[in-house]
Amino acid sequence: MFRYDNRFTQFLPGDSETRNFRRQVFGACYSRVQPTSVPSPRLVAYSREMAEELGLTPEQCGSDLFQQVFAGNQVLEGMDPFAMCYGGHQFGNWAGQLGDGRAINLAEVWGREGRRWTLQLKGAGPTPYSRTADGLAVLRSSVREFLCSEAMFHLGVPTTRALSLVLTGQDVVRDMFYDGNPEREPGAVVCRVAPSFTRFGNFEILAARQDDDLLRQLANFTIEHDFPEFWAERKSEVDSPPFYADWFAEVCRRTATLMVHWMRVGFVHGVMNTDNMSILGLTIDYGPYGWLEDYDPAWTPNTTDAHGRRYAFGQQPQIGMWNLVRLANALWPLVQEKEPLQAALQEYSETYQKQFQAMMAAKLGLAQYDEELVDGLFLLLGSLETDFTIFFRRLARWQEAALDSNELDGLFDANGIPELLKPAYYDLGQWSQTISQRTRDWLNLYLLKLRRDSQSPSSRVERMKQVNPKYVLRNYLAQLAIDAAVRGDFTQITRLLDVLRQPYTEQIEHEDLAEKRPDWARHRAGCSMLSCSS
Ligand code: AMP
Ligand code: MG
Repeated sequence: MFRYDNRFTQFLPGDSETRNFRRQVFGACYSRVQPTSVPSPRLVAYSREMAEELGLTPEQCGSDLFQQVFAGNQVLEGMDPFAMCYGGHQFGNWAGQLGDGRAINLAEVWGREGRRWTLQLKGAGPTPYSRTADGLAVLRSSVREFLCSEAMFHLGVPTTRALSLVLTGQDVVRDMFYDGNPEREPGAVVCRVAPSFTRFGNFEILAARQDDDLLRQLANFTIEHDFPEFWAERKSEVDSPPFYADWFAEVCRRTATLMVHWMRVGFVHGVMNTDNMSILGLTIDYGPYGWLEDYDPAWTPNTTDAHGRRYAFGQQPQIGMWNLVRLANALWPLVQEKEPLQAALQEYSETYQKQFQAMMAAKLGLAQYDEELVDGLFLLLGSLETDFTIFFRRLARWQEAALDSNELDGLFDANGIPELLKPAYYDLGQWSQTISQRTRDWLNLYLLKLRRDSQSPSSRVERMKQVNPKYVLRNYLAQLAIDAAVRGDFTQITRLLDVLRQPYTEQIEHEDLAEKRPDWARHRAGCSMLSCSS
């Protein structure tokens, strides 16, 4: 089925203990472990694009072998399954060894055009890193991970991918809200795919244990395999402090780019602990994530974080920095100089700033960033419940109409609400004289800036549509697909997967999937709040 290239286990030291029991693992980057068999695997969905990338045909994906392998029931010849050892800072505190507690890397394989991919099962049973948990995953969280990975990919956001979603035929017990009400839920396994799943925490654990040799070995391996361009250019400098400092700067830039993407599409990760930060700058570990509905920088979908709001939407860029500081500390033994690490962190801020401005200019259809306009907009959006996605998507149409007309009044209704933007407002009852006036003022300012802008109106609209998605995986849509899947109906998963393939394209027959959250979903579990239990 695959062409294998298992380098992680070939070149890095593994745990000498091969029995599968929970423990602290020293002097190793991973432990070999076999997935646990399940009674009756059943394929729910697979990603056509990911399968093609891996050279799998639809026939192969529909085969019994496929569902057996991606449920963890069969390990193919050439696979070398292992769980990684990593640590992490969780909610601001060092948590020691964590590791792949329910993820098992099956193999590294060759994809198209010489790309290498790691196949990883999530929910295929315990590993030495499972601590007190069971190593399993429920259908609910697996649907969310599967759909969101692929949706993010199609949105152009760096992310780990998902190949398949398989029901195991075995129930898993979860206390969803940690309130003493455990329930049985269907178990599932997702096969995730990424060039590698290495996290900030893989380096942190080695630094915390003062295992400098292994830290260097892992850094060298990571740079050679996950940063091939950097390696090609700089390999003669390997082992020198500038080599690691400049690589760290690259990680900083990638992380900044990732944060800008999240802020662009309204994605809230929910648990930005350092063990959930990919060294490659990918979105990784889809847990209690959420999509911004009404614009609110303080919003978090994660109930565990509801008090501190450490990982709220607007906090994410700052937390990116906090996490990079932890990584800088972990890489200290390789650099041993403050200045280059600080310069790299400075680059994070600068890259973020520059790319955020370019992104906001693009969202507004302007060639140049305009601080007055953007600050005014965020104040306005925060002052009444406005759907982030719909607002920006519709703004392209509004500005087109406004530039075309010489009678602006025709674009507003009797209450002063802009007609074309109406579908973005959650509560039209909130509209007061003041709100109408402020909206008008901002739109007038926007028009003024547009008139001074050099782009042609048609290319502007096109550009706006390429950065402002029409379709995102709205929280309630994922929940509806989960409810149906639990009843044995997988069609909503397939439909979402299909529509989210082209998030920037109008799909008239799927208009319902672009509407704002209905009122019933405002406070419903799974739609507006999620626990870490998964
Ligand atoms: P998370 O908060 O999902 O990033 O997980 C933090 C740590 O807990 C990681 O080491 C996970 O592998 C581990 N973990 C989470 N859920 C489970 C589970 N059901 N079984 C075993 N380990 C888990
Ligand atoms: Mg995690």
